[in-house]
Amino acid sequence: MPAPAVAPALPYLSGYAPELLEQVRGLIAQGRLGEVLRQRHPDRHEVRTDRQLYDHVAALKTRYLRNAAPLSRVLYDSSQLARPDALLQTLGTHTTVSRVQGGKLKAKREIRIASVFKDAPAAFLQMIVVHELAHLKEREHDRAFYALCTHMEPDYHQLEFDVRLWLTAMALERAGREAAPGVSPDAPVATP
Ligand SMILES: [Zn+2]
Repeated sequence: MPAPAVAPALPYLSGYAPELLEQVRGLIAQGRLGEVLRQRHPDRHEVRTDRQLYDHVAALKTRYLRNAAPLSRVLYDSSQLARPDALLQTLGTHTTVSRVQGGKLKAKREIRIASVFKDAPAAFLQMIVVHELAHLKEREHDRAFYALCTHMEPDYHQLEFDVRLWLTAMALERAGREAAPGVSPDAPVATP
C-alpha cells in the first residue's frame, strides 16, 4: 500500500542539487508549485497548429542551424511523446552521462513536440524546441549538446528546470486525481 507522498520522488528533477530539491518539496508541501510557475511564466504562446509550429521551428533553425539537415516534418504529438516517461527520455536525466538512444536519431529530422506544450508558456515551448533542434546536430545530452542549446537560448538551463517543475506539477495533479477514492473501477476486490 503506498504511503502518503511526504517526500515525492521528483523523477523529472533527478540530477539537481539536493538543496534545490528541498526547496521544490517545500513548495509542493505548501501546494504552491503551480502558482509559483504561473507567476514566473504568466504568458501563453500563440503557436497553435502544426503549420505554425513548423514555421516557428524553421525560423529558429534558419537562424542558428542553417547547415543542419532540412526538416521534413514538425508537429504536435498527442500520442506517445505526450507520455510522461517519454518526455523524461526526451529531456534526459540532467547529467552529463552519455545516453545511447539507439536508432532513434536517424528519424530526428522530423521534430515532434509533445502536445502538452501546445497550451504552455512561450518560454517552455522555446525550451523544448531548442532542445529538439540541438538534437539535429548532437545526439547525446552531453556538453556539446547543452552548449548548442544555450547558444540558441541563453536562459536554456533555467528554462529546462522550469519545464521540469511544470511537468512535476502536472504529474502531482494527475497523481492526486488518480489517488482520489472511488475512481478506480479496476481495483481488485479485497479477498480474505
Ligand atoms: Zn533530448
